[in-house]
Amino acid sequence: MMLLTKKMIHIRTLLQSVGKSDSLTLPSIVVIGSQSSGKSSVLEAIVGHEFLPKGNNMVTRRPIELTLVNTPDAKAEYGEFPALGLGKISDFSSIQKTLTDLNLAVPAEECVSDDPIQLRIYSPNVPDLSLIDLPGYIQVTSLDQPPELKEKIAELCDKYIQPPNVILAISAADVDLANSTALRASRAVDPRGERTIGVITKMDLVDPDRGYSMLHDSKYSLRLGYVGVVARVPPSTTTTKLFNRGNSNISQAVMRNEAAFFTAHPQEFGPEAHVEVGMGSLRKKLMHVLEQTMASSLKSTTEVIHQELAEATYEFKVQYNDRPLSAETYLAESLDAFKHSFRGFAETFGRSQVRELIKQELDQQVLNLLAQRYWNKPIEDLFPTALDTDSLTDLPKADPEHPLWHLKLDASSAALTKLGIGRLATSVVANALQTHIDHLIQGSTFANHPFGRKAIADASTTILRDLSYDISDELEICIKPYKYRIELDDNEWAKGRDNITSVLKEELRVCEAAVKHVETEVGGRKKLRDVMGFIDRVRNGQVVLEGDGVGGAGGFSAALLRKGREAVFLRDRSGILKMRMMAVRSKQCANKANKYFCPEVFLDAVADKLTTTADLFLDAELLSKFYYSFPRELDARLGHGLSKAEIERFAREDPKIRRHLDVVKRKELLEYVLKEIDSLRQLEAREKRSARGS
Ligand code: GDP
Repeated sequence: MMLLTKKMIHIRTLLQSVGKSDSLTLPSIVVIGSQSSGKSSVLEAIVGHEFLPKGNNMVTRRPIELTLVNTPDAKAEYGEFPALGLGKISDFSSIQKTLTDLNLAVPAEECVSDDPIQLRIYSPNVPDLSLIDLPGYIQVTSLDQPPELKEKIAELCDKYIQPPNVILAISAADVDLANSTALRASRAVDPRGERTIGVITKMDLVDPDRGYSMLHDSKYSLRLGYVGVVARVPPSTTTTKLFNRGNSNISQAVMRNEAAFFTAHPQEFGPEAHVEVGMGSLRKKLMHVLEQTMASSLKSTTEVIHQELAEATYEFKVQYNDRPLSAETYLAESLDAFKHSFRGFAETFGRSQVRELIKQELDQQVLNLLAQRYWNKPIEDLFPTALDTDSLTDLPKADPEHPLWHLKLDASSAALTKLGIGRLATSVVANALQTHIDHLIQGSTFANHPFGRKAIADASTTILRDLSYDISDELEICIKPYKYRIELDDNEWAKGRDNITSVLKEELRVCEAAVKHVETEVGGRKKLRDVMGFIDRVRNGQVVLEGDGVGGAGGFSAALLRKGREAVFLRDRSGILKMRMMAVRSKQCANKANKYFCPEVFLDAVADKLTTTADLFLDAELLSKFYYSFPRELDARLGHGLSKAEIERFAREDPKIRRHLDVVKRKELLEYVLKEIDSLRQLEAREKRSARGS
């Protein structure tokens, strides 16, 4: 028989994890009683340990779903809070502490919570039982308790004492049974006394005579009967408790103490008296009644399970197309898909893409250098006297032998080569890779998973950071020769001339677009022309500004003046760009011998040389190493590196996946429970047959 209860309790526990519907459970024994009726003492005598919260003002605020699991072959006794994941707790005072903390965590204004605490206790000394300890009924609320506490507790108990649960109604012998709150509550829901077990504690505190009659002629007769107990731990045990830290089993001590009392009164409590007394009898009764009750509920519970399973199966089919899913496969598939998209990207991002990125960056640097060193006024010296693009004879009026022009060009090219190309090019490429990875993440299933997103982004930043450090230094060494000497051949010169032409053209376009933008910002071309004219007149000394012009001047607001200055700058720059484009296109700049007058072409050709070195190096070092390490790092961070719980947490980040997983899990669990119930039935049948046979 024992095995049946065990199995049913196991099924009950499984059903608990399916949750949801109230009818999807097997009955349990709910324990009710007034405060101080001895409820805790009875439960602790059954468990064999003090583990319930104590203390003057300690009102239990949440039901405790206590599952006792008999482990006949084990020595160890321990408890587990499955919802908290604290693992096995073999120190019962720490179980007590946890329960106290959980109680205290219920907000005062809520009084009590109907969210049960699940506690499982494994021990060779406990029977297989499933009990629910409810807050004790209180008679009068003390000053520091909320006035509605009494009501709330009664409501909570009412919820739990509904059928098919068995009620364990605890009353103390030293209180008139007519005043027992537990019995009154039980009678209200079980008027014929069919599923209530009466327990009368503190039998030692009343006359044996009176105790005897309490067990017998009750006004509320119970089919399952009354059991009288003395649940108190004898004082001697309580003192030695100090030495063994409250962790020794108290059941035996309680039962010995109790037996001494009952055997001292054989007339009232002996076998002839036909009363049920003692914790031992109570334990047996509880086991028997629970088994019977569970067994008779099994059929209706099975029906509910079938119903729930049908619903889950339907949902699985309709919503998820019968597609199986587990957190592990989901992660594996997501990771594969991501790696696939990464490979696709890696194929399209190679040396020429790296080259383009670096060249663009260097073009910008070249433009800055030109603006700083050449394009600031006056620059007329650099222009051919007549801007005749066909004439080679019209040289700029500056003297090509003058050291100033040599110095200017050398300094500019040195500024370019000593820019820190190693660091610059490496970080441009690394940033581009990171941006691409971010895009890939955005377009992958990981987009809905903060954890996955972070893991992938971290993987790439870590690798790129680690690689970049050495690579920038090494690249810097590679370009070192250019810092001393730069030789250009005619081809390189011609290429530089072509390229810088388009760079200047693009820059001109940007400048002109920017002027247009300012124009719309200030509200029209005319307005902008007016303010620009004013700024020009100030610049040429035709107008003298009074004060600093901060508050505006010439009838223009400060903001408008600022815009005007911006436009003047852009206009001037456009002018210079146009002139320089012409210069670059002129025959003079077709000849590299004229490099001192064509710094644009020269610097572009230098930038191109630097780019060629950098792209070759970065392709070999940064790209190929990154392409090699990244998928491996992903495996380490998201593949075999994760625990089962982490994978589960990851998959559940996406609400859609969570629902899918829940349906799958629910379905599997319900199917498993049905199988368990089936095997239980077979066991039951076998036991019946063998009982008949013997
Ligand atoms: P609860 O508030 O219903 O949980 O009651 P407790 O289990 O804390 O018991 C209240 C008090 O009654 C404690 O001091 C217990 O030691 C004492 N007590 C419990 N059962 C018995 C019993 O059978 N006999 C005696 N003499 N005292 C008991």
